[in-house]
Amino acid sequence: MLLLKNCYYVATFDENDRELRNVDIYIENNRIKRIGRDFRVETDLTVQVYDCSNLVIIPGLVNTHHHFFQVLTRNYPPVQNAKLFDWLVNLYRVWKHIDEEAIYYSSLIVMAELLKTGCTLTSDHHYLYPEGVKEIFDIQIDAAKKMGIRTALTRGSMTMGESNGGLPPDSICQDTDTVIKDSQRVIEKFHDPSPFSMTRVILAPCSPFNVEEKTMVESEKLARTYGVKLHTHLAETLDEEKYCLEKYGVRPFRYMEKLNWVGEDVFFAHGIWFNDDEMKLLAETKTGVAHCPTSNMRLGSGIARVKEMYNMGIPVSLAVDGSSSNDSSDMLGEVRNCMLLQRVRYGNDALTARDALKIATKGGAKMLGFDSLGAIKEGYAADLIGINVRDFQFAGSLSDPLAAIVFTGFNHSVELNIVNGRVVVSKGKVVGLDEGELTEKVNRISSSLINRVDA
Ligand SMILES: [Zn+2]
Repeated sequence: MLLLKNCYYVATFDENDRELRNVDIYIENNRIKRIGRDFRVETDLTVQVYDCSNLVIIPGLVNTHHHFFQVLTRNYPPVQNAKLFDWLVNLYRVWKHIDEEAIYYSSLIVMAELLKTGCTLTSDHHYLYPEGVKEIFDIQIDAAKKMGIRTALTRGSMTMGESNGGLPPDSICQDTDTVIKDSQRVIEKFHDPSPFSMTRVILAPCSPFNVEEKTMVESEKLARTYGVKLHTHLAETLDEEKYCLEKYGVRPFRYMEKLNWVGEDVFFAHGIWFNDDEMKLLAETKTGVAHCPTSNMRLGSGIARVKEMYNMGIPVSLAVDGSSSNDSSDMLGEVRNCMLLQRVRYGNDALTARDALKIATKGGAKMLGFDSLGAIKEGYAADLIGINVRDFQFAGSLSDPLAAIVFTGFNHSVELNIVNGRVVVSKGKVVGLDEGELTEKVNRISSSLINRVDA
């Protein structure tokens, strides 16, 4: 049991968007039990009390698209200024050497960074399957259990290598039968559809330009047989649009629509280049978009029409995308970039701080299929974060404590992060983690990978 005592400011994002001052939040096991004032627990020694008098408390942030392994090639000089296709081709030369150890430690450090910047539920899109590297999904689950983060990981895939007209080297691709067999294995082994599940599985062929049509078709059938979600990259660049028009004779979204990839159980990463008709189809079918503002800026891919999507009722969530195109997993920072980038396209009032926070909380929870997450509400999962707004960096901003965490601040670390009723970040530190040791380990793996390319 956990009592968050005297919370300075709480944004619930419940049906009435209540914002409360000086309240207590009582957590029993993995749920929010009560929200109110002056709870007395002095005599109950089983309750852990956390002083929240300096904290803005909000629901945990949800990251709906990532590639954890890319942390090993952050800021890689050959692709610092590249656009998507060149960026991919150069990085595949490094990534093809990734092994089990690289996957485990890259997953650990990214999850730690996500937790420290306010994320409580994350997806990951691992699509790289080098020959001989076994049970990658299982390794990521082990890392998630160690970090205590809630996950909806994807079983990604690439099935169209260089010899088949695709971009990636053949050695990191698989054939469709292998992909489908392993997808079924991980669904049966790990997918937990219960409301407070810590592990969900999503099927995610990588993109129309590195996956065979057969893989898309078979993945869709398997996902719908088991009731799991479908995900892929779509409408990220104009090069992709050109590729689809040349190869399939249709624009990317029409291609996916032909393959039945529309509906509430489908969400696409990026979705920058949808035209008006495609926007209408997204709205009608409730097909979702995982918006990745920092990555889109970093690769110069374009600005997604998020303000319009939001107003049209198209499901939108937020994501940091892979660490080689961000090059951080700064979840709270992503909320700020989401708000600011829409203003570049649509003007000063495109999205408010509250809009951006809602996209990053309830928007993400809904997209990943968690109906009891994304709000601070009695009976909901105890996934919430606290930011210390009495800190130096927020001085002068407290006329609106909630918007302060988006508009203000140079360090997006949270003081408190609770996942499923368990404190995973306390006083700004990931509980039980030696951050220095993990950083050294990841640096060693990164330089050995990069040296193999240069050799
Ligand atoms: Zn991506």
